[in-house]
Amino acid sequence: ALRIAGLSKSYGTTPVLHDIDLDVRRAETLCLIGPSGSGKSTLLKCLNLLEQPGAGDIWLGETCLTAPHADVDAARARIGMVFQHFNLFPHMSVERNVTLALTSVKGMGREQARVVARRHLDHVGLAAFADQRPGRLSGGQQQRVAIARALAMEPELMLFDEATSALDPELVKDVLAVMRDLASGGMTMAVVTHEMGFAREAADRVAFMCDGRIAEIDTPDRIFERADHPRLRQFLSQVL
Ligand code: ATP
Ligand code: MG
Repeated sequence: ALRIAGLSKSYGTTPVLHDIDLDVRRAETLCLIGPSGSGKSTLLKCLNLLEQPGAGDIWLGETCLTAPHADVDAARARIGMVFQHFNLFPHMSVERNVTLALTSVKGMGREQARVVARRHLDHVGLAAFADQRPGRLSGGQQQRVAIARALAMEPELMLFDEATSALDPELVKDVLAVMRDLASGGMTMAVVTHEMGFAREAADRVAFMCDGRIAEIDTPDRIFERADHPRLRQFLSQVL
């Protein structure tokens, strides 16, 4: 579904990503793990062109996102992204947060958008909160609204960047449960996470990033049980 070839990125003169080749297969959940500063967020941001890659190509299906005249907005509409901070609009209702892109980007009628929004809010267990402002919801509930908002656009690919790391521990599990459902429901996902339990159980493959490179990529079993890469062993010994 997604293919990255020779992706490099620098901030100023500091190289951050080095010649990365990676694919995320259709319906696959790929988890990205690795030390702070290894380039995980930068990689995700390059994927939906929030950051401009310095070199390399990104393909989403048949569309080359890095081609000179690529329609970036159209490409972004095919990719859902959920960040650590929920970025909901505080002055709009939960429902309006979900319908906004449906009406403005997809040109959907307001009534139809409401139906779609209710369905997705229902899915994450928040239909009852549709008329509330996001500020009345817990962090975990807000994050689930952000997920519903992304899913309502029917993306081909979902990107998660530490979607649970700003949450209190007791709120993490509901968000992970929604992500697990998505993964087992066949969504294509690239997930940056510090939740090693999630990576172990929900990922089809786990990529270990280190110094701007994918140092290892393999099944969770081989990453967690049989790690032989020294930096990966060191990383796992610190986080497990
Ligand atoms: P963390 O686990 O802490 O979120 P990360 O793996 O997501 O780390 P990145 O945020 O991708 O790491 O950062 C990779 C490197 O790029 C770091 O050295 C960081 O300091 C640098 N960097 C990130 N964003 C910028 C920016 N906007 N300008 C300059 N340098 C940046
Ligand atoms: Mg990061």
